Amino acid sequence: MTRVAIIGGGISGLSAAYALQKQRAAGADIDYLLYETSSRLGGVLHSELVHKCLIEAGPDSFLTEKSWAADLCREIGLEDQLITSNDAQRKTYVVKNGRLVPIPNGLMFMAPTRVMPTLFSQLFSWNTKAKIAREWFDAPESMVTGDESVAAFVERHYGQEMLDQLVAPLLAGVYGGDARQMSMRAVLPRFVEMEKKYGSLSRGMLQRRKASPSRNPPRPLFTALKGGMQQLADALANSLQPEFVRPDTSVQALQPQGSKWLVSAGYDSDQVDAVIIAAPAYVAAKLLHIADLTLAAELAAIPYNSSIIVALAFDNKVRESLAPGFGFLVPKNEPLEILAATFVHNKFPFRAPEDIALIRCFLGGTNADRYMQMDDLRITEIVRRDLQRVLGITADPLFTSISRWIRSMAQYTVGHLDRMARIDELRRKLPGLALAGNAYTGIGIPDCIRSGMNAAADVLRM
Ligand SMILES: Cc1cc2nc3c(=O)[nH]c(=O)nc-3n(C[C@H](O)[C@H](O)[C@H](O)COP(=O)(O)OP(=O)(O)OC[C@H]3O[C@@H](n4cnc5c(N)ncnc54)[C@H](O)[C@@H]3O)c2cc1C
Repeated sequence: MTRVAIIGGGISGLSAAYALQKQRAAGADIDYLLYETSSRLGGVLHSELVHKCLIEAGPDSFLTEKSWAADLCREIGLEDQLITSNDAQRKTYVVKNGRLVPIPNGLMFMAPTRVMPTLFSQLFSWNTKAKIAREWFDAPESMVTGDESVAAFVERHYGQEMLDQLVAPLLAGVYGGDARQMSMRAVLPRFVEMEKKYGSLSRGMLQRRKASPSRNPPRPLFTALKGGMQQLADALANSLQPEFVRPDTSVQALQPQGSKWLVSAGYDSDQVDAVIIAAPAYVAAKLLHIADLTLAAELAAIPYNSSIIVALAFDNKVRESLAPGFGFLVPKNEPLEILAATFVHNKFPFRAPEDIALIRCFLGGTNADRYMQMDDLRITEIVRRDLQRVLGITADPLFTSISRWIRSMAQYTVGHLDRMARIDELRRKLPGLALAGNAYTGIGIPDCIRSGMNAAADVLRM
């Protein structure tokens, strides 16, 4: 009998537990114990229904392109709950001088695949447009070999305005991250590959589009669940054997004992053959302090950012006044505090009644600690002031919902992949140890699912 402890009941830990449960059901001689500090499983996946509006307190969807999440949903019986973003309304704006300017059509993250929309866009100056044209002639041999920041990479190709107006706000809106710190190789590896092959990203993107058969119509960018992202966590939790799940139980210490591990939580200890740590890397660092100081130090060095999600509902008058589209991003040079806002009623129309505007704002990034000290009233004031400046909304919201996520977003800073290689080497020296979660090989839900499943496969191989 192999006993496995899983520490952390977010999507990563739940996926690991699900994979082990599946093996067990197929006849494998396995026991598992899932420890979770909170009374609720799912970690940052948390959905609530407020006045007929579906509020996603954490993630609101996952990328359709990364199939692991949708595949898992189908496997656990949620296929009929899968829904996609309303891409007929897929337009995103950037705030420029207080006004909403659309991101030009055909711009794939930063690389234009169509000339005209970028050429006539008000987002970029003629200087940047000239840089975009020149980039077309970049050759592969002129490129950098080691890791570098996303900022350095983007500036090299398209200049500072592309970074400030588009790439930095996109990364801040998705990761709460700083483009000057983030690792190009870890965060945007596809562009690094493209650069290696073609030199020019614009040419690379065009070649890729030619090479891959185009879907007609194209697949929507985001996938979600009708009843909210928490449906996925709930379905996974329901597939587990209740006697193996320990909510309200925080693991305080881990101690290697020969080829086994002693897991201590409260006054109880369990001896197990293997441990999957699916809690944040800074928790893993604390727990592995006794087992390996160097590994603990590497894990502790992975930075995390905090974030706040503020959802506000407004009446139909406000809804009618809003621009079409998914929402907007805010560059740093604008005198606003929110990093991004989503028009939920457009992106996922079923999440709000037809006569309500549901706007989800994202606060945090490098300034997050300051906001964490503020009470709900102050946060609401800041967000409403910003919405008034950009969208002209003066009406009182019908309701507001605020969710704080402290140190929940791992940041892949320059050198992240080298750190991962060192962590992996040190981890392999500790028999029966696996790591899962958003700190390692991908921050999105699909990546976390894959990391949990891989960790389960790892410990079964040991
Ligand atoms: C606000 C926000 C919005 C996001 N939006 C998106 C999005 O739209 N799409 C997308 O794909 N991704 C999104 N992400 C990223 C993605 O949701 C997360 O990376 C992913 O859900 C993390 O899952 P996890 O299980 O690794 O970690 P978590 O969800 O953080 O779970 C870790 C769990 O470990 C538990 N734990 C900690 N210490 C212990 C201990 N000592 N003992 C026992 N348990 C412990 C915690 O209580 C927690 O439940 C978002 C993230 C955030 C924070």
